[in-house]
Amino acid sequence: MKCYVCEKSGNATEAIAVCIVCGMALCKDHLVRADIDMWEGGYPFPPSKLKKKLPRILCKECYDALITQR
Ligand SMILES: [Zn+2]
Ligand SMILES: [Zn+2]
Repeated sequence: MKCYVCEKSGNATEAIAVCIVCGMALCKDHLVRADIDMWEGGYPFPPSKLKKKLPRILCKECYDALITQR
């Protein structure tokens, strides 16, 4: 799978991760790894309460949207 962002700009960089929110494939330059508190009951997360912060892979757009929302 190729990085979606790179692909749009004409590059074909192999993706190493997928945004957990929108499912976009991302290369290491375009992923955002964020340790975020458990979001409340939102897709695609399990409804159970996890006390820990979990590492999450997001694309830049989803990261911005989520961080701005908080
Ligand atoms: Zn990329
Ligand atoms: Zn995303």
